[in-house]
Amino acid sequence: MKSFTLRRIKPYSVRFALYVVLVALSVVFTMATALSVADFLKILFDTGEETAVPSVNLVAQWLDGLYAWLITFGRRNALLLFSAIIFILYSLKNTFGYLSAIEIAIIRTRVVRSLRNDMFRKAMHLPLGFYSRNRKGDVLARFGSDMVEYEENVLNSIQALLTAVVSMTLYLAMLLYLNLKLTIFVLCMLPLVALIISGLSRRLKRESKTVQEMNSRLISLTDETIGGLKVIKAYTAIEFSNKRFRQYNREYAKRRIHMYQRISAASPVSDFMGNVIVIGILLFGSWLILNGDHGLTADLFISYVMLFVLMIPPAKEFTTALSQMKKGRACADRIEAFLDEEEEHYGTLLTPEQIPNKSTDGGSGDVPTVELIQVGFGYIDEAPVLQNVSFTVPKGETVALVGASGSGKSTIADLICRFYDNYEGEILFNGTSIKQMTLKDLRSRIAVVAQDTLLFNDTVSANIAFGCPNATQEQIVAAAQAAQAHDFIMAMPEGYDTNLGEGGSLLSGGQRQRISIARALLREPELLILDEATSALDTENERMLQHTLDTVLHDRSAIVIAHRLSTVVNANRILVLDHGQIVEQGTHEELMAAHGRYAELVALQSFN
Ligand code: ADP
Ligand code: MG
Repeated sequence: MKSFTLRRIKPYSVRFALYVVLVALSVVFTMATALSVADFLKILFDTGEETAVPSVNLVAQWLDGLYAWLITFGRRNALLLFSAIIFILYSLKNTFGYLSAIEIAIIRTRVVRSLRNDMFRKAMHLPLGFYSRNRKGDVLARFGSDMVEYEENVLNSIQALLTAVVSMTLYLAMLLYLNLKLTIFVLCMLPLVALIISGLSRRLKRESKTVQEMNSRLISLTDETIGGLKVIKAYTAIEFSNKRFRQYNREYAKRRIHMYQRISAASPVSDFMGNVIVIGILLFGSWLILNGDHGLTADLFISYVMLFVLMIPPAKEFTTALSQMKKGRACADRIEAFLDEEEEHYGTLLTPEQIPNKSTDGGSGDVPTVELIQVGFGYIDEAPVLQNVSFTVPKGETVALVGASGSGKSTIADLICRFYDNYEGEILFNGTSIKQMTLKDLRSRIAVVAQDTLLFNDTVSANIAFGCPNATQEQIVAAAQAAQAHDFIMAMPEGYDTNLGEGGSLLSGGQRQRISIARALLREPELLILDEATSALDTENERMLQHTLDTVLHDRSAIVIAHRLSTVVNANRILVLDHGQIVEQGTHEELMAAHGRYAELVALQSFN
């Protein structure tokens, strides 16, 4: 995962370098301010006695020089001048601090932006099988809270670590320069601190992972509940759902508190350790001075302690960042796992020109549009959903699939679109195995109209032209006319420019379905698949739409899946599916005469 984040931030290495420079400048001016305090004290309390030996230490020399210059203005003026100097140093420190904050905000936002783009792209390229294996809430959580946690923990701690490392290095270098012995004393104590802190944050990643997984379950639960509200209310199951949610939420909150206990422990512990070290420095330093150590004067000692105190906050941030990093890594893992999921295979096996086309097939007119040979398939390995399914859709003919719900009709349509890859047998499109075609090429030759329509909050034209951005207005109108949608579209306030509202809420079910059909026709598909296209409609609307379909289907290769048998009577061939197998086939008349399964289904329906 480390490499994951490194990969994500690598494009910003130049900006990171700039950030480091800005942080370093800010630290340098902080140090200068702190060091000058010794001079301030000297101006205030100086008894007039000269330092006997000029110091070998450059910092001390510089401070002495500054003092000598300031005091020539008299004590009062020196104080004023000194304040002015401090003011300037402080302003510089803050300016660089501000610039570095902006710089890091840009980096963070851009890393997250590109990550989010990649995830969205991934979400669309994943095969449908992924979504039947995973809960929707889990995917949503990766986009939502995992992303937020990732930014707030991983990116934030990278920033904090970087800042802390830069400033601690500078402070330590200065401390080493000011006094070697004291600094070695400090350095000896640091491993002890590190050990304690790392012990605290050890189990954090695992706990954070549990918390994130529980969070995704929580989102799923909410999503399912709101989606199924009608059923929940109808079954008076509100109390039950509520209780289930509360229980789960309580467990989740408990886990979170537990995790935060660990995280929060890091800061007071490191604060405490810092204070212990300061006391150690005071004792050891005083001892050095009292013993007449040459390197350490009282001035320098004050500066030393000032600098060390300044080093405590970055050190604290360092330890906090380490434990935050652990927490965020669980989210990074989840994001990375999502990005590593295998995508649908957009192969480039055959160029579109190599695949025989409806319009250019010349002598091979008898190649069927679709041919299934002994196809078998199961969503989960043990349970076959389709077995030994073989049939053809000859050019220009309509094949109907009928059968009880769950018999595998939609699955056949999905396999022809190659939404699932792991089927047995062979599926040919225009005589070519669909596994040899690119997904894009295959799907551009097929149009599906399903039971639920997918309409966007956009104009009628845009909804019809969905997936065909280059369609002209004339083509759109022609498609709408073919779908017999033109008249009601023209009756709308702004015609083709009318906005359809959320989910096409302004239209009736039949109208929505006509828009879907227009959209399908605009693609000029070689194969049209209607999957229960009329099932959601009432009888009146269904009869009207059926009339449309009869004209649309004329001379077109199509697969019509229907629950209601009245819609399939006119098909060239009817296949009866039962538990994933074709048990009967023929025309309506033939099947009726056979008195088999189909006749049974018809009898059942007319009885209703
Ligand atoms: P039909 O369209 O004839 O009603 P389907 O093809 O939708 O039937 O479903 C056939 C069988 O496959 C059913 O038993 C159903 O439970 C199962 N099934 C459908 N979709 C999935 C899926 N995404 N994951 C797992 N099983 C599925
Ligand atoms: Mg179905």
